[in-house]
Order: sequence, then structure tokens, then C-alpha cells
Amino acid sequence: MEVCYQLPVLPLDRPVPKHVLSRRGAISFSSSSSLFGAPDPRQLSQRRGAISYDSSDQTALYIRMLGDVRVRSQVGFEPERRSSHQYLCIDFRTLHARLGCGTAEGGSAPERRVHRLLSFQRYLHSSRLLRGLPQQIPLHILDEDYTGQARCMLEKVGNWNFDIFLFNKLTNGNSLINLTFHLLNQYGLIELFQLDMVKLWRFLVMVQEDYHNDNPYHNAVHAADVTQAMYCFLQEPMLSKSLTSCDILLGLLAAATHDLDHPGVNQPFLIKTNHYLATLYRNTSVLENHHWKSAVGLLRETGLFSHLPPEDSRNMEADLGSLILATDISRQNDYLSRFRRHLDQDDLCLSNASHRHFVLQMALKCADICNPCRPWELSKQWSEKVTEEFFQQGDIEKKHKLEISPVCDRASNTVGNIQIGFMTYVAEPLFVEWARFSDTRLSQTMLGHMGLNKASWGSLQQEQSSAGEETRPGAANVDDTAARRDGTGHVATGGNGSKEIPQGSRGC
Ligand SMILES: [Zn+2]
Repeated sequence: MEVCYQLPVLPLDRPVPKHVLSRRGAISFSSSSSLFGAPDPRQLSQRRGAISYDSSDQTALYIRMLGDVRVRSQVGFEPERRSSHQYLCIDFRTLHARLGCGTAEGGSAPERRVHRLLSFQRYLHSSRLLRGLPQQIPLHILDEDYTGQARCMLEKVGNWNFDIFLFNKLTNGNSLINLTFHLLNQYGLIELFQLDMVKLWRFLVMVQEDYHNDNPYHNAVHAADVTQAMYCFLQEPMLSKSLTSCDILLGLLAAATHDLDHPGVNQPFLIKTNHYLATLYRNTSVLENHHWKSAVGLLRETGLFSHLPPEDSRNMEADLGSLILATDISRQNDYLSRFRRHLDQDDLCLSNASHRHFVLQMALKCADICNPCRPWELSKQWSEKVTEEFFQQGDIEKKHKLEISPVCDRASNTVGNIQIGFMTYVAEPLFVEWARFSDTRLSQTMLGHMGLNKASWGSLQQEQSSAGEETRPGAANVDDTAARRDGTGHVATGGNGSKEIPQGSRGC
């Protein structure tokens, strides 16, 4: 009842609702501005043009230089490519020196130049909108009924069985924008941090667009799912009574951006194909560093925190990085051991800022790999999506005669075996400790779902083999493989691609 705005569950090409904009009197808004993903090219050009190469803002510069990572098979879209890469087609926002040249208005040349400033993802999106074409979702989805249902769903956003797939349909594919906006507003963080509504909305649109829709798993819906899970954890008594508003803001932003611009392949793949990101980050937390830097680039590009004192803004960026880097599953054992130690010694003191930050890191890690803890109907969908992403990587590896990464070979793996291995060696050890820390109904529910899901995958496996299907070579060893695979990671459901399965298991 006290809600003073209407949730803007709108397609991206609709005008900004006045009630959203009028909430903050301070917003200066030009009617020609477009916030919804199809920015006026001239504005866009100005916006990006505002960051100069002489800028001391190295992160924004980095983003301009590198653009987004785009990995595709050789078939299909063939946008701008970096020809030096042998295996992948990568498009870039080519934000190079051309930017400084020629600013002639009108004609096709400037228009083409503007397209080159966009990430491929954004280009596709904006060109689709400019041509007036609907997205993949049919137009009837835009009916008021649907937006009304989406609003109804948000009233239960704290439920563990929240169906993010349905919410994504009801919001016309804009689940990440709408969910994150709703949560920030619900917590009163927009007013508290004096966030400019225009900048915030633009930031969220850009975040969503910089996820790759064509990744089966690492896309904006996964980010929305992780954000919703993070919200559930933030509501847990241990956290809700001790976290500050700043912690909550960081936790939600980290969840929303934690896989930003994920290319759909894992770190070992980037390393073995000499991808420039692997070189840039010296083969260490390559993807996570890129997600973080991409998020910081968007924060600076939109100026979301530009009104804050520079030191606060930089601290926020650093903390955001620390949270996102914690999702590197190859470091899972470090975090888990430290968590266990604290729990054994009962010395977590949540009035201590560094302890709160550590708990936030653990919460984000749990949110990131919580798929096995969801109800079966949701969990199963995630399992199939993440496995398909592994298999697509395996297909590329096979095509280019590279060694096929563990669990990426569709000929010798099954969804069920990968899932059972992931739950046993990665998810269970983490959630068992989380339940020690936060011994609540939610924690028990999550463990309960995981047990049931594991049993269901086991039954399915048995059914398949008793149906006469020949056991595939190596399938019986998948658990073991999953547990000991190289840093390739991203093993199962949890979906942290690029991630190494820890050597430890729950009993250790
Ligand atoms: Zn993730």
C-alpha cells in the first residue's frame, strides 16, 4: 500500500512511465531520452564519447578497449571478428581510435559508426527494436494481464520456489531488470543512496543486455535467479539483523552482475585457445575478473555512483569485485575451509565489517550454485541448461580437434551423472556448512530438495540403464571425473562454468 511506484514491467521499447520518473524530483529528464535499450544513437554516441582515451578512469577505458566477449561457433552470426583467434568468432565493440575521427551528423556513415560502438548483444537488441520487430516472445505476452501477474509474483519474491522462468516470460524477457529494480526499491536503497532513477534504469538495462541470450545457462535469467536466491539469503535472520544497507546494495548488485558478459565457455577453454582474457588476467579467475571489470565499466559509464565521494565509489567497486571473485569455484576449498574454521570456533562476529563481507561472499557462492536445492521442476530445467552449455563447448572442442573437457562430451556423459557428481562433491559440502551457519527452515528445505533431486537423478539413471540402454564408456566414472576434473569447471548445475571442482568432499 505504501508502494509509491508502479513496477515498470514493460517491454524495452515502451516510454518511461511518468510515475517512475516522477519519484525523484531531482531527475532531469529529456523527453527524447530513451532508457529502454534502444538509445538514441546520438545520445549513445555522446555518452560513450564522453569517456576519453586520456581519461584516468582505467576501468572504463578497459571496457571501451576490449568490448564484450563473444564466442560463437563458426556457423551463424559472423559479426566483427578478431581474426587472430583460431577457434572462436569474437565480436568486439570496436571502440578504437576511430572514435576520435569525424563526427559528421546524418547519413549512413555516422549510423554505422554508432553500431560499431555497441556490443553485439546491444546491437542486435537495438536494431531489432528499431525495426519494430518483436523479440522472440510473442506480443500477447505484453498484455496487462501478464504484467499484472508479474507484479503479483514479486509479492512472493522471497519464496524459495519462486519460478524465475515464468517471471522471465511475464516480463517479456526482462526478469533481471525488473527483479533487481524491485528489490533495490523494496529495501529503500534507491532513496537511501540517492540513486538517480534514470541512471539506475539505464544501468540495469545495460547489465541485462550484456548477458548473452544465446548461452543456454550463463544468461540474464541465471543472473536473475541468483539475485532472487541472494535476496532469500539476505532475509535470513543471521544476515538481516546484522547487514548494513551498503552490504545489501553490494550483495544485490554483485548477484545481478556476477556472470556479466559470460562467453559460455569455461576458463580452461579460454586458456587453451589463447584467448586474450586469459592473457590479460594471467590465467587466474579469468572469467570472474572479466565479470567484475565489466560491471565496474557499466557503473562508471552510467555514472550510477558518480554522486558519491570518489573514495566511497571506489570502495564499492572493490567490494563488488571481492564478492564476484568469490564465485570462482576453483577457490571453493579456500572459502569452505575458512567458513568451517569460523563455525568450529564460533567466532563469526557480524558487527565486524570484514566478517560481514565474508558472509556475503558465502551467501553469493550459495546463491550461484543453488540450482540443486530448488524444487525438482526448476532444478531439472537448470540441470539441462547447464549441461547443454557444457556439451556445446565440447562440440566446439571436438570440431577443432581440441581435447574435450571433462563433462563436456555429450557422447559419454549424461545430465544425471553430472548432476550427482556436482551435488556430492560441490553443492552438498557448501550447503551443509551454510545450514550450520544459518540453521533455518530455508536451509533445511534446500538440503531436503537437494537430497530428493539427487535421488531423482539416480532413479532416472537406473531407469535408463534398465531400459536396456547400453552403459556408455566412462559414464560410470562421471562422479569421479566431476570431482577431479581439471580446472575446467563449471561442472554441473551450479553453473559456475569455468570452475574447478574442489578436491575435497564433504567428509573431509
Ligand atoms: Zn553464476
